[in-house]
Amino acid sequence: MNTRKRLQALRREANPVAAAAPQVVAILDHPACMIGSGQSCEHALVDRDLNRLLFDYERTVRSRFTRIVDVLKRISTHQHDENFIERAQQLAREQLGFELPPQVLEDAWVCGLDLSALHSRCIFSALKSSVENAPAEQVGWRQRLPLDENFLHSCGYHTVDISPCSDGRLQGVSPYVLRILPGPNVRVKAYAGALFDIEVDVSDWARREVERLAGAMVDGERLNYLKIAVYHFSSSSPGGQGCAAHGSNDRQATEAALQRLQNELRTAIDQTFGLGAAPDVLLIGVDTDLDALRIHLPDGFGELNAHRYFETAQVYRDTLGLAPEAARARIAGIVADAEGMGGWGQGNGRMHEGMRRLVLALAEANLSQIEYVIKHHTGRYKIIGHDEECIVAGDAVRSLQLRNLFYFARLDTIEEGAPDMDVGIKIFGNLNVAHGLPVPVLVHFEYDARIPESRARAIARGRRVRDAIEARYPDLAARGLLNCAIAVSERFGDESCVFVVDDAVDDH
Ligand SMILES: [Zn+2]
Repeated sequence: MNTRKRLQALRREANPVAAAAPQVVAILDHPACMIGSGQSCEHALVDRDLNRLLFDYERTVRSRFTRIVDVLKRISTHQHDENFIERAQQLAREQLGFELPPQVLEDAWVCGLDLSALHSRCIFSALKSSVENAPAEQVGWRQRLPLDENFLHSCGYHTVDISPCSDGRLQGVSPYVLRILPGPNVRVKAYAGALFDIEVDVSDWARREVERLAGAMVDGERLNYLKIAVYHFSSSSPGGQGCAAHGSNDRQATEAALQRLQNELRTAIDQTFGLGAAPDVLLIGVDTDLDALRIHLPDGFGELNAHRYFETAQVYRDTLGLAPEAARARIAGIVADAEGMGGWGQGNGRMHEGMRRLVLALAEANLSQIEYVIKHHTGRYKIIGHDEECIVAGDAVRSLQLRNLFYFARLDTIEEGAPDMDVGIKIFGNLNVAHGLPVPVLVHFEYDARIPESRARAIARGRRVRDAIEARYPDLAARGLLNCAIAVSERFGDESCVFVVDDAVDDH
């Protein structure tokens, strides 16, 4: 047996779950979550029922998108049939759960079916179905997510503002990776490289601060605002599948996010509103191959450090086989050791008890996500790189949070959001344009129904941003390889992702 075969046999023995899938063997050279031979891969702190609910949801949403290409191929083979329109609509209804725009089908006899327009239209319809069905499809896991609003209050936080990278692999970070229940006071604002906008953050913080000081918040006097920045890296392909905005260099990704949290956001608020006004901050790295975390620990002054952290993949291995209470005690020990480290990681005192409670809960909750990837994705995601379906630009669609479903650029104007959009368009150059498929871009903004004309302004902003996107990428637009749609949602109400111009795709 040659060395390569021997290595593969050894790996099969050591990790039967991963070895069963040939596509992951090649990347098992850095098996951060490898399960030892004969060892049970069931951790005592994992919520398996929650994992099942999350996986059912992932499969349901994913299947809406994976069927699109096959269904379109089948429909296109019938385009010269006598009863084509009827047959196409029947196939779409049965296989996709929605109808296709009749105009595109009616025009097919002239110069063939416009599959490119249909493809984008199907992606938007699948997004719409996922949003419409979200209340029913998410009810199970929403009730079981451990880090809900009450828990966050118990840690001392009224608001959690999360800025991951725009990268699609981070777009399930709140419910899946962190197990934080998405809600009106848990905001996700993604930016390329997790380089969030300081002015937007200062203004979001100030708005909540006014509500808190006005007494509009229960327990407001003891609660604080928490900002989390989430950078990412790839353990199996560190130089290739890390963060594109930082040249796949995780040291650079860490330092840049740290700089923004500490030297920019905290300093900005302290200098504007008085020393001590700055919110709490937390820095988290995600290994997007495994969804395991690197949690950086604040010190007694809330200051972070690139070197003071612990990793949950290691926690998982160290606590596998322990009873729940012993595992919890071990995790607390690992966190205390990381916190007390000297040298480069030296901090000034220990974090406050609310932050410690949150950090321990994040570590424990993430063990479930690590096992989710082991059980449902063969130990490591089959596709460790990009695989998004579309770009979302503007505000997050709160009810849609799933890994690699979309690339999300948080922006108000294209002038400010241009670098984030450019990265997204580049990604879709490889994913879609290289295969002759257009880039679907959903421009989505939220409005506040309490503010007069807020909805109309959100729609106007959507149209402005759509026009600016088309102007920024004229080659793609001219070749029909850029399809934008506009949708709006009510921030505190029921209207969610309502498409404003339903025939946007046909217009272009
Ligand atoms: Zn990134």
